[in-house]
Amino acid sequence: MYPGSCFGRKGDNVTEEKSKYIIVGASAAGMAAAHTIRLHDRQGSVTVLSEEPDTPYFRPLIPFVVSGKKRAEDMVLSGCGPYTGRDIFVRTEARVESVNTAEKTVSVQGSGVLAYEKILFATGSRPYIPPEIKGTDTKGVFALRTLAHARNMAKRVKTSDHAVMLGGGLLNLKAAFALLERGLKVTLVVYSPEVLSQLMEPEDAFLIRKAMDTAGLKIKTGCAATHIISEHTGVTGVALDHGGEMSCRMVCIGKGVRPNVEFLNGTNVWIDGGIVTDRYTACSAPDAFAAGDVAVTFKPGSGDRIMTALWTNAVEMGRCAGRNMAGVKTAYSGTLGILNATQVAEEPFVSMGVVHTKDRDFEVYRHATDTTYRKVVFNPQGTRLMGAVFIGDITNAGLYRYVIRGKMPVMHIKRYIMDHTLHYGHVMTGKM
Ligand SMILES: Cc1cc2nc3c(=O)[nH]c(=O)nc-3n(C[C@H](O)[C@H](O)[C@H](O)COP(=O)(O)OP(=O)(O)OC[C@H]3O[C@@H](n4cnc5c(N)ncnc54)[C@H](O)[C@@H]3O)c2cc1C
Repeated sequence: MYPGSCFGRKGDNVTEEKSKYIIVGASAAGMAAAHTIRLHDRQGSVTVLSEEPDTPYFRPLIPFVVSGKKRAEDMVLSGCGPYTGRDIFVRTEARVESVNTAEKTVSVQGSGVLAYEKILFATGSRPYIPPEIKGTDTKGVFALRTLAHARNMAKRVKTSDHAVMLGGGLLNLKAAFALLERGLKVTLVVYSPEVLSQLMEPEDAFLIRKAMDTAGLKIKTGCAATHIISEHTGVTGVALDHGGEMSCRMVCIGKGVRPNVEFLNGTNVWIDGGIVTDRYTACSAPDAFAAGDVAVTFKPGSGDRIMTALWTNAVEMGRCAGRNMAGVKTAYSGTLGILNATQVAEEPFVSMGVVHTKDRDFEVYRHATDTTYRKVVFNPQGTRLMGAVFIGDITNAGLYRYVIRGKMPVMHIKRYIMDHTLHYGHVMTGKM
């Protein structure tokens, strides 16, 4: 529980007719914004509406509910770091069905209409289920996104021996390792030649691949599923595009995400892929803001539009939106294209900035040992750090991020970057 926060559920009467701040979505972006508002406005009422039945939780940890290593209570966003806001009213099972941006009201499923002065759309994203795969609504087919999904997956494990994972992205890999830990045989079906293809190039992934082999994760590359085979108890197999079939009792789809924007249909909120925001996280309707996975923002430097699906980015943008909503005008610093610090199969890794360099004119340095891998990418002139992939040892990753994001000239610190001895002193004092 959030100290000082109150919780309400579906069917509770909307006693307040108006909340100064309404936040739709109670996750990374929404809760970061709620807390930030409270730091700058001690009085204004803050209501956070969430369609999920669970109180806010740390979504990246839900694979541990599948593996049984953690309980839902262990991942509640409470008392940690910034999540200590006061007088923030979080209403669960409160799906916002529609928004009237002219009258500044939201319609909450089963609970009536609530007026606002400022609103934040922090509705995140949901798994993309490719329509070309037939039978995905079968029992035993999952796409891990919520705590409820994780609990259901954990139940299904009890009657399963083999799980087939469709997609080799980060989320599916995490789910795959969770299922392996439960003793299932797990096969990853990946269309690309390698896993994690959005976060690194195939040759960067060898340590991850080694960890997968050690853990017993089977992988089939270069093929895709066409349909789910089933009987009355649910899924019994997957048919593949090259004609083969694999029998299994569980399928997990990890084919990317799509932003949750449907509740804004018919409004004047500009949607282009996601909710388009300006430099101050505002969207096109009056007193309305957006942050997190659902928002279209910009890359620092180039200003190109970008959407990401990463917790840290959602928190940063949520905080910025919270400041702007509370009247502290704050420009958002932009979102790095790829920025991920996480762990797969006990293997910590970071991927940030430009990491796809094949056939492109970047200066690239790689260094590998049996247990670590480092790749650093400089611009063609070798004067700026553009990106990095670290696997096994992610020491000082935040510092590298700072250098990339700040577009700092690096000639004086380049050798430290290359031999991985860079420390804060080099960056802050510019000393050689
Ligand atoms: C299994 C898994 C592992 C992950 N691992 C990592 C990781 O290691 N590192 C990393 O950076 N990121 C990771 N992520 C991604 C990260 O969790 C997301 O980027 C982050 O949660 C986005 O936060 P958000 O606040 O924008 O939206 P979300 O977390 O998606 O939350 C949005 C909330 O809004 C609710 N909502 C949607 N529509 C409505 C509506 N109409 N009314 C009311 N509520 C609504 C949703 O139900 C949801 O609760 C992972 C995600 C998953 C699923």
